[in-house]
Amino acid sequence: MKKIGLIGGMSWESTVEYYRIMNRAVMEKLGGHHSAEIIMYSVDFQGIHDLQFENRWDEMGLILGDIAEVLERAGADFLVIATNTMHKLFPEVQRRVKIPLLHIADATAEKIKERGLRRVGLLGTKFTMEMDFYRERLARHGIDILVPPAREREYINRVIYEELVKGILREESRRRFLEIIKALEENGAEGIVLGCTEIPLLIKQEHTELPLFNTTEIHARAAVDLALQD
Ligand code: GLU
Repeated sequence: MKKIGLIGGMSWESTVEYYRIMNRAVMEKLGGHHSAEIIMYSVDFQGIHDLQFENRWDEMGLILGDIAEVLERAGADFLVIATNTMHKLFPEVQRRVKIPLLHIADATAEKIKERGLRRVGLLGTKFTMEMDFYRERLARHGIDILVPPAREREYINRVIYEELVKGILREESRRRFLEIIKALEENGAEGIVLGCTEIPLLIKQEHTELPLFNTTEIHARAAVDLALQD
């Protein structure tokens, strides 16, 4: 089994999910008392949060690059950045190590294609919904992306940073997220990418009939598939 290098803590609320899903997936596949081999570096999210909101991406690239080197030296066979937003720095991090990085949007695109869908709505931080890095990566796979209007994007972003990354789950926020999902469906979305690793804590498949793509689960399971490949 390959060792998964996990760059986590962004936020730890979703890193816990990665850890749980990876271990569960290894047990499902290998049985017995098997569990995942993981080397994790969990950051203090305050510093990253502040740099994000000051748009200091170069500095964050250096921080994540340093962490990637630490995990490579510790023996990780490949790396997983456990957040959609920080995939903005995917090229900068990849440049620093020889081991591969598993891109969250590539893993998600595979699942969208498996379901035979072409046009999906994207929910995530304002960085993920508005910048090119994520939408372009999905578009490379031939997938069309719809994002909510500006006011809704602002709202979603606020809920992510003020509630979800702190483990606060409110019924009112769930209701509004579901309204936003409904509007995306009315505009032609055939499925919804939960493109923030904390959104699946709030929104689950049982809340809507529209197919949901839980990026946390998809990414964690793709990492296990890679870890168990010969
Ligand atoms: N975990 C979130 C994501 O998947 C947001 C927190 C962050 O900024 O990293 O985008």
